[in-house]
Amino acid sequence: MPVSTCGHCKNAAFEIAMLAVGGSETHPVLQCATCGAVAGLLDSGDQTAPLKAQNDRIATLQTEVRALRSAFEQIAHQLERI
Ligand SMILES: [Zn+2]
Repeated sequence: MPVSTCGHCKNAAFEIAMLAVGGSETHPVLQCATCGAVAGLLDSGDQTAPLKAQNDRIATLQTEVRALRSAFEQIAHQLERI
């Protein structure tokens, strides 16, 4: 498998860093761990999106569990009458 190397110093170790762009705004970048040459920009999108999606799925499951619990309670109540 080929190993990625820095285009400037040929080092093969990279790191994630924040690059200041246009004053105060920063963006995550992949840079050479030796010379700091930027190898590429990383997605700076909403990093919490997967957690929000997971929370939505959990909320849906909670609703379904409540509905099942209610149905089981009704069945148990009906069986007590028999
Ligand atoms: Zn380098």
